[in-house]
Order: sequence, then structure tokens, then C-alpha cells
Amino acid sequence: MKAVTTLKELCAERAKLAEPLGLVPTMGYLHEGHLSLVRQAKAECPSIGVSIFVNPSQFGPDDDLESYPRDLDRDLSLLKDEGVDLVWMPTANEMYPSGFQTWVTIEGLTQPLEGLRRPGHFRGVATVVAKLFNAFQPSKAYFGQKDAQQAIVIQRMVRDLNFPLQIVVCPTVREPDGLAMSSRNAYLNAAERKAATVLYRALTAAIDAFVSGEQKAEALRDLMSDVLSFESLIRPEYVSVAGLDTLEELTGPIDRALLSMAVYVGETRLIDNMIVGEQGFETDGDTNS
Ligand code: AMP
Repeated sequence: MKAVTTLKELCAERAKLAEPLGLVPTMGYLHEGHLSLVRQAKAECPSIGVSIFVNPSQFGPDDDLESYPRDLDRDLSLLKDEGVDLVWMPTANEMYPSGFQTWVTIEGLTQPLEGLRRPGHFRGVATVVAKLFNAFQPSKAYFGQKDAQQAIVIQRMVRDLNFPLQIVVCPTVREPDGLAMSSRNAYLNAAERKAATVLYRALTAAIDAFVSGEQKAEALRDLMSDVLSFESLIRPEYVSVAGLDTLEELTGPIDRALLSMAVYVGETRLIDNMIVGEQGFETDGDTNS
């Protein structure tokens, strides 16, 4: 496994790898969720690239950029064990050199949900992902359903800008008690860690209600809010039942929807989601190749 920092080194090493290459973009502090993407890539592609970059442009002024957990040595050892070929760990200056002024903006899909609460977040995400696609030239790129809006936004960007690659969306990996794995779970103390299972409990309560015949979007939203309201250590930011195509809030009876939420557990902001309806996540975003 080669681990490089400069774009020049990356391009030189990338050119030596067999086609097609599968790319897994990450911000590091890797857990089983990240590794599940690497394993999926490994099952489908002869070469695997991973990026580790805590992207400053997707963090707001009050976000946790400085405190975001980092452990590069451990990350590299995990990736080596998974048989990854090439890791890029650029500096912020390598990614955004002096004079940088080109940004990728996706319109409607970035307005609700995370975009509403984190202005500029998806502009930062889309720009860095576009740069990663150009640098690695992958045939497939792997994202987690954990960040469902991100995956949908990136699928849109790939279609709109004719990136010649396929987006694969992989299921959310959870702890045994249902908490979605996240690098930010490291911030939780013992009591908060226990309370954090309420996101999973709220989502599964809504899924169960839907399966039992409750199809009204308002009722599912209220049910999730009710479950959250019984947990004193948490503060919900939003609870959503949205259409998977527009990410706009639904009303009335639904047959398919993205259930999602952002919740503060103490000072830590956690997100989670599940899909209700006959079809799961559309994993093939490719209309170009
Ligand atoms: P991050 O390092 O948080 O930017 O995540 C990098 C990639 O891993 C993104 O595509 C995430 O959606 C994905 N990911 C993060 N947590 C999980 C999880 N628990 N299960 C599956 N994928 C995940």
C-alpha cells in the first residue's frame, strides 16, 4: 500500500494501478462503517483508493473542525490490512492552494435537511469530492447511506457534470444496540452513549408503524418526535419524512420516503436515517458509462 500526500505523488502512483479503481472518500478516524465501503469496493474492483482528508470547507464556523478525531497511524494500518492500494492524505494547502476560487454548487437537493442547518456544507463536500474524482479517476466511488443526503447530492453531481463513474451507496453499519457508527461517537460520554440509541429507536418505531399500516407522513414524523422526547439528554434539531427524489417534506399517505433526523446528544450532533417503502436506496447512480 502506498500512502502519499501530494497530488503529484498521487497521480504517479495512480497511473501504476490496474483498472477499474474503486474510491472510498473519508475524513479518517476509521471504523467498521468506513471499512464496509472498502470491502464492498474490494469485492468489485481490482484497485482500491482511499482518501483521508478532514475537509475544512465543509465545516461551518461553529462546527468541530479543530476537535474532529484523528488517528492517521491507526487508519493506515487498518487500510493496509484491508488490502487498499493507494491512500491520499492531502494537506489543506494541497487541496486548496493559494488562489483557489472554484466551487461546485448543487441547487435544490442541498437546501433542506443538513443543508438548511449547515450552510455551505454541501458546497464544500461537492467541491472536494469532485477534486477527488478528478485526482483518482475512479470507475466506482463508495458512499454510506449513513449520510443519505450527501450520497443523493453526489449522485446528482455525477449525473449533472458527466463524471464517468458509478456511485455505490452502501448500508449503514450499526453498533449492536443500533447506534449508527460514526467518528463523532467518540465524543460521547457513557450516559450520552446510552441516550444516543434513541435515534435508532425512533427510526425503527416509525418503520414498524409503517409496516403495520401507518402511512401518513405527519404521523410517522410525530411518532419519531415522541420517541425522542422521552430521552432527556438529547435535543432534536430536525425530524424529517422526505421524498427520496427531492428531499422535500412529504404530507399525507406515502409509499416510499427517507426518514431522517439530526439530534444533539449533549454537545455532539448525530444524524441517522432509514428508508421506508418497497425499494431501498438506489445504488446505481450511473447514467454516463
Ligand atoms: P466520513 O469519514 O464521516 O466523511 O465518512 C466517509 C464515508 O463513510 C461516507 O460515505 C459515509 O457515509 C460513510 N460512513 C460513515 N459512517 C458509516 C456507517 N456507519 N455505515 C456505512 N457508511 C458509513
